[in-house]
Amino acid sequence: MKQSFRSITILLTVILLLPAFFFSGFELFQMNKNEKEIENIYSKQLDAILFSINLYSEDIINSWASKIRLNIKPDDKLDCINLKNILSDASQIRSVVFSNEIKNQRLTVCTFDSLCNLKILTNEINALLKDSLKKINKLKSYYKGGYFKIEQLGIGHVTNSEYIIFLFGNDSNYRLCMLEIDQGKFIKELLGQKIQVTAENNLNIGVVNHNSGKLLYSSGALTDSSELQVKKPLWLFPQYEIGIKLKDKSIQVLSKERNRLNLFFILLADFVFILGALVVFWNIRKEIRLAQIKSEFTSNVSHEIRTPLALISMYAETLEMGRVPNEEKKKEYYGIIYNETQRLSGIVNRILSFSKIEEGKRAYIFTSVKLNDLVTKIMQSYNFHLKNKGFECQINLSQDLPVISADAEAITDAVINLLDNAVKYSLNEKYIEISTGSKSGYIFIEISDKGVGIAKEEQKLVFEKYYRASRGNLAHFAKGTGLGLTIVKNIIDAHKGKVGLESKPGEGSKFRILLPV
Ligand code: ADP
Repeated sequence: MKQSFRSITILLTVILLLPAFFFSGFELFQMNKNEKEIENIYSKQLDAILFSINLYSEDIINSWASKIRLNIKPDDKLDCINLKNILSDASQIRSVVFSNEIKNQRLTVCTFDSLCNLKILTNEINALLKDSLKKINKLKSYYKGGYFKIEQLGIGHVTNSEYIIFLFGNDSNYRLCMLEIDQGKFIKELLGQKIQVTAENNLNIGVVNHNSGKLLYSSGALTDSSELQVKKPLWLFPQYEIGIKLKDKSIQVLSKERNRLNLFFILLADFVFILGALVVFWNIRKEIRLAQIKSEFTSNVSHEIRTPLALISMYAETLEMGRVPNEEKKKEYYGIIYNETQRLSGIVNRILSFSKIEEGKRAYIFTSVKLNDLVTKIMQSYNFHLKNKGFECQINLSQDLPVISADAEAITDAVINLLDNAVKYSLNEKYIEISTGSKSGYIFIEISDKGVGIAKEEQKLVFEKYYRASRGNLAHFAKGTGLGLTIVKNIIDAHKGKVGLESKPGEGSKFRILLPV
C-alpha cells in the first residue's frame, strides 16, 4: 500500500503540481516583462506630451518672428510704434533689438518695457553675440539655404530675460533680430494655457526652475517639484524644465498595485492547485484503502463462515452415519451444531443489518425506554454466555435515570456488539464492567474490558466500515467483519447520540454510548 501511495504522490506531483509551478514561474516572469513594457509605454506617452508643449512654445515665437519678417524690411528705418502694433498680442516681449553688422555689433533697440535699462540690455546682447558667432553663422547658412530658423541666444544675467535670435531680409541684405522675452510671463501666460488643456483631469504638469528646483507654474495642486516623474528641458528656456505626473497614482504605484494583485491571483491559483492535488490524493488514498479493506472483509467473512460450516457439516455427517456412541454425545453434537448455526446467523444478521443501514433502509421505532431495564434484560440473556467463556462481570446501574425515547431493539444491538467485542478482544484478564449514568444532558451505557486495547492512532478508524485494527491487537486472529462498531456508530447517530472510546493497548478499552435525554 505504501508503494502505491508513493506512486500516486509522484504521479500527482508530475501531472498537477509541476505544471502549476512552471506556469506560475512563467506568469511571474511575464508579469515583470509586461510591467516594464507598460512603464515604457507610459513614459513614452508622457514624453510625447512634453514634446508637444515644447513644440507649442517654439510655434509661438516662430509666429512672432514671422510677423517681423513679413512686415519689416532690412533697410527700413526702425519704427518702434509700428513694431508695437505688429506685436500687439505679444506682451511677453520686453524689447526687440536689431543689428546690421555682426562684427561691430551696432544695435538698434525698441523696448516696450518702461523699466528697461538700455545700457544693461545692449551690454548683455553684445556679450551674448560675441559668444554666439558659430550659432549665427549656422543661422546664416540655413537662411541662405532658404530655411528660416529661430535660435536661443542666451539668458541675460541681470535682466533674467531670454534672448531669441533669428535672421530676416534676403540673401545679400539681411539683419539680425533679437527678441528679449520675459520668461516667467511667457511660461505662465502662454504655455500655461496649453499646459492646462493638455493636463485635463488626469495629469499634473509643472514647470520647474532647473537650478533652484522651485515650481514656477503648475497645472494642478502640485506642491513639490520632486513629485514630477518625467522631466524634460524646455527647448527655448533652458533654465526651466517641464515635468509630468499622473494625478492620482504614479506609474510605479499603479504597476506595483497590479503586480501585487497578479501575484495574489497566481498564489491563489497555486493554492487551489495544491489543494486540488491534496483532495485528489486523499480520495485516491481513501479508495485504495477501501478497496484493500473490502478485499480483507471478503476474506474475513469467508474465513468466519467456513469454520462453523465445517463444524456443522462434520457433526451432522457423524450423526447421520450413526457413529455416535451414546445419547450424551449426540446431545453434545446437536449443541455444537446449534451454536455454530447461531454464530452463522449472527454473522449474516450483522451483514444484513449493515447493508440496511448503508442503504438508509433501517427504520427505527422510538418508544419510551428505561435504560437500566434494557441493560438488565440484555445481561440476563448474555450473562450465561459470559459465564461460559469464563468472564467475571460487574454491573453498576445508576439510579433515577430519566426515561428516554429510543429504539430499544437497536440499542440492544449496539450494546451486544460492544459486549461481543469485549469478549472477543480479551485475552488473559476476562473482566467486563457495564455501567449506566448521566452526564450533561445525556444518559450513558459504558462497557469496559481489560482486553488488548486499541492504539491511539487507530481509535478513530475502528468506527470506519470494514476497518479492523491491526497494531498490537488480536484482530488478525480474532475473527470479525469490521462492521460491528460501524453498526454501533450508525445506530447511535440515528438517536442523535455519541459514542466515546478510551483505550490503552495492553490495559483495556472503555466504550461509552451517550443518548440525549
Ligand atoms: P470486528 O470486531 O468484526 O473486527 P468491529 O467493527 O466490531 O469489527 O471492530 C473494529 C476493530 O476494533 C476490531 O477489529 C478490533 O481491532 C477493534 N476493537 C473493537 N472493540 C474492541 C475492544 N473491546 N478491545 C480491543 N479492540 C477492539
